[in-house]
Amino acid sequence: MRKNIVAGNWKMNTTLPEGLALAKELNETLKGKALNCDVVIGVPFTHLASIAAAIDTTKIGVSAENCADKASGAYTGEVSAAMVASTGAKYVILGHSERRAYYHETPEILKTKVELAMANDLTPIFCIGEVLEEREAGKHFEVVDAQIKESLFHLSAEEFGKIVLAYEPVWAIGTGKTASAEQAEEIHAHIRATLAAKYGETVADDCTILYGGSCNGSNAKELFSKPNVDGGLIGGASLAVDKFMPIIEAFDK
Ligand code: PEP
Repeated sequence: MRKNIVAGNWKMNTTLPEGLALAKELNETLKGKALNCDVVIGVPFTHLASIAAAIDTTKIGVSAENCADKASGAYTGEVSAAMVASTGAKYVILGHSERRAYYHETPEILKTKVELAMANDLTPIFCIGEVLEEREAGKHFEVVDAQIKESLFHLSAEEFGKIVLAYEPVWAIGTGKTASAEQAEEIHAHIRATLAAKYGETVADDCTILYGGSCNGSNAKELFSKPNVDGGLIGGASLAVDKFMPIIEAFDK
């Protein structure tokens, strides 16, 4: 079934003590609250085990922000999907535009990461989205279709059912520019149609598609009110509980 999810992406922010304090504060704030969405926090590798041990992971899912494209072995500095899973994390963000742009992650590499994540029972939060020039050239639909096809369409329908997608227009990430709720709905509906053509209506209907890109307490409600927007992947505003909570609470459907 399709879920509503609000997921934070802390990126390379917070030391371990700072991150632990932030996770514990969120945990305390959510205690006893009835929510209309699942809450996930994507945190640096160094924080995963400590945070997973310190919070109620039935209430807040813990996510890595990446994993290696190799299972194990002589890959100095890499962190495998199995290692991530062994910390208590249940999710992994894959294909974030910062990884694609700065670390040259190709569709092929991401395909392998998705497979390794799923083989280790991690739910991939798979990011797609166009850059500004592609949007201005009217190519955003074909760009996201290609990103999905190249890294995910080798999956069976059953496997695809475990994927969470995050549409993140690169021009909106960390820029303060948000896609309008209409722009988000238009492309989310398009993505769902692409999924339906490949896997059928049920799989497409059940897929959770998050919006990411300068989502905050002021615009979340309008974005989440759209029928094809199932939540958000939140960067900057996930780094403070008083900014993250209004986004979580924006979910009233
Ligand atoms: C992100 O990096 O996934 C993101 C959406 O960042 P921000 O919310 O800061 O734009």
